[in-house]
Amino acid sequence: MEENKFDLRKLQEADMPKKYITTKEEKNNAKFGKLVFEFPQERNEVVAEGDPEDFVVKPQAYFRGASQIPGAEFNQSYQIFVKPFFLDRVQHRHVKDEYLVFLGASFPNVFDFDARIEFTIGKGEEAETYTITQPTIIRIPAGVYHCPLNFKEVNKPVLFLATLFTPMFGGVYDMPDGTTREMYYNGPVPCKYNAEKKCDSCGKCLQESWEK
Ligand SMILES: [Zn+2]
Repeated sequence: MEENKFDLRKLQEADMPKKYITTKEEKNNAKFGKLVFEFPQERNEVVAEGDPEDFVVKPQAYFRGASQIPGAEFNQSYQIFVKPFFLDRVQHRHVKDEYLVFLGASFPNVFDFDARIEFTIGKGEEAETYTITQPTIIRIPAGVYHCPLNFKEVNKPVLFLATLFTPMFGGVYDMPDGTTREMYYNGPVPCKYNAEKKCDSCGKCLQESWEK
């Protein structure tokens, strides 16, 4: 039995790094360089006209998915809410699962939570509205309608993470004329191929490979 004992220390010694990547240039030439991505600082731009912008701490971090790390099959937001805000008013679905995480942001204790957030899952007759008053994670299976999402009371900062298992953020919306539309949003970032152009979520860069 002794030889089957898992010796983590031995494994770690065998895998000691031999090549350090420290500069931008080294990273550009490195085999795994495209897998290591430094978050750009972003400032929320999706605020309805007339709404205050100070409900969320600036700057925020977002992982925009495959446009930032080629081949990524999820995207994720990291926002800290400090004031009540009606974040998402429109019901929608996604083609893959989404997870919403609510944690206290009075670090380091993520259980230091004092907020009241309303979130609806389902549509019409089957719709259920949940009130979040404790650290919570919610799974929204692909195809399930959800929202509105309303941060009704925020007495202590809340860390909100939305994770969607698609290479770019987007949703399926029922239009007033009875049709459905898939809409994508990749953030207020410049186009990967033309820094002067704003990203229009065309999705071209999602085809890139992380490999050289
Ligand atoms: Zn959603």
